[in-house]
Amino acid sequence: MTRAIKTVPGRSCGTCTLCCKLMMVPELEKPMGTWCGHCKQSAGCTIHATRPQSCRDFYCGYLQSDTLTDEWLPAKARFIVVGEASGIVLYVDPGRPDAWKDAPFYERIKSWSLSGVPSNRQVTVRIGRRAIAVLPDKDVDLGEMEPGDRIICEARRGPVGRVYSAYKMPKAEVTGS
Ligand code: SF4
Ligand code: SF4
Repeated sequence: MTRAIKTVPGRSCGTCTLCCKLMMVPELEKPMGTWCGHCKQSAGCTIHATRPQSCRDFYCGYLQSDTLTDEWLPAKARFIVVGEASGIVLYVDPGRPDAWKDAPFYERIKSWSLSGVPSNRQVTVRIGRRAIAVLPDKDVDLGEMEPGDRIICEARRGPVGRVYSAYKMPKAEVTGS
């Protein structure tokens, strides 16, 4: 059964094609952070009728949430907000790797981290294979991730308040192999 996705009334991709660069497309073996060969930039998909299922299923946070106002349009912001099982992931254009730190984004992203990390909802930045864990009090650059690696974020009580930390767990440790 196909899950119906609710999008913000009146909101559409327009000439934004940023997910065709930033998101992985397994069916095409397209990695994150490189343009899909079927994308005509600022125009759209040249194989729209036969595009892979993962492209059909993808709706970014901007399309789904009216709390993300017009400046969050991925084509302008140069990053895409995506809700995933782990929490919120920001897929950032490698050509503008610090775009997520601009105002008004950074303050809002930190607020997501403050409310999310204590309840195991991570906020992560992905720039191609590189990952950055956004914690309430710092950002932790975890370097390049391999498929199957996992990010662990923790919040513990310390003598003067919460202590936050993040680390990368390699796939071998995740699977116990
Ligand atoms: S990033 Fe979002 S708004 Fe842009 S083309 Fe993809 S789904 Fe549409
Ligand atoms: S197949 Fe089409 S929709 Fe999918 S990434 Fe390529 S250009 Fe975008």
